[in-house]
Amino acid sequence: MSTTVAFIGLGHMGGPMAANLVGAGHRVLGFDLVPELLATAAGAGVEPAASAAEAVTAAEVVITMLPAGRHVLALYREQGLLAAARPGTLFVDCSTIDVADARAAHEAAVLAGHRSLDAPVSGGVVGAEAATLTFMAGGGSAEFAAAAPLLDAMGRKAVHCGAAGAGQAAKICNNMILAVSMIGVSEAFVLAESLGLDHQALYDVASTASGQCWALTVNCPVPGPVPASPANRDYRPGFGAPLMAKDLGLAANALRSGGVEAPLGLKAAEMYAAFAAAEGADLDFSAIVRTLRPQNGT
Ligand code: NAD
Repeated sequence: MSTTVAFIGLGHMGGPMAANLVGAGHRVLGFDLVPELLATAAGAGVEPAASAAEAVTAAEVVITMLPAGRHVLALYREQGLLAAARPGTLFVDCSTIDVADARAAHEAAVLAGHRSLDAPVSGGVVGAEAATLTFMAGGGSAEFAAAAPLLDAMGRKAVHCGAAGAGQAAKICNNMILAVSMIGVSEAFVLAESLGLDHQALYDVASTASGQCWALTVNCPVPGPVPASPANRDYRPGFGAPLMAKDLGLAANALRSGGVEAPLGLKAAEMYAAFAAAEGADLDFSAIVRTLRPQNGT
């Protein structure tokens, strides 16, 4: 069944996601502040709108894919998106934002007479283009069921994680595991170097022993053992260090506001913030290994 969707935010992720909705037979009205992105989306069959508010007036579902929580909340409230939509419209925010902002967005949508789901993604730009994203959703079961055909058109898997904000919570918890495990794997390779142990030998043992994890066997931070990992192409992302730093910042906010002790998560957030602001700005997050060597060399 074809659904009329308003898609706001047609950047690296939103552009291909909107195009995949068109490809699945949905009518998509799009808007982005950057005219060139709107033109690219139009080339893929998205109907360009003059404003976000104009895009939502005819929509049954509104999908947002924006940089941060402040953009989502400003659009919903001050910039009049909730007011412009028809009563009962389903708002699906796919951006990665603070859990507290996600809950505030839900509350504002429901207060305005709408339905709401947070549905952040993992899978990156490659997953957005290939429609292989994983969605983690928070909200009611009826809202999740209503969004499911659209999520299926943009991804491979959608998990209903719980009530409002649970999708964002799952996203930041997962990425905190990933960051801590990547630093742990990197430290182990650096220790191996100082002990004269080959990268490949450590990999051959740890990849089938209890040290096994995604950071080792898929995104291995040293060149050689896993030919497709970013380390083999000068750490071209992949998953960029600034995106990891952003997600860890959201995890750190949630840790502090919940009074949760997580020294490794907080340390990882600090390390990735420093790395992303300096030499890691354009690199895959696995390049953090470079900062761990005693002489901070290559
Ligand atoms: P992006 O900067 O490429 O796209 C965001 C778009 O939002 C921009 O084009 C911007 O012009 C637009 N925008 C901002 N305010 C707007 C407004 N008021 N009205 C209309 N458009 C507006 O970012 P991205 O890489 O596409 O990421 C989007 C979200 O997805 C972020 O929250 C990010 O953390 C998350 N995410 C990104 C990746 C990735 O690999 N890029 C992976 C997973 C999750």
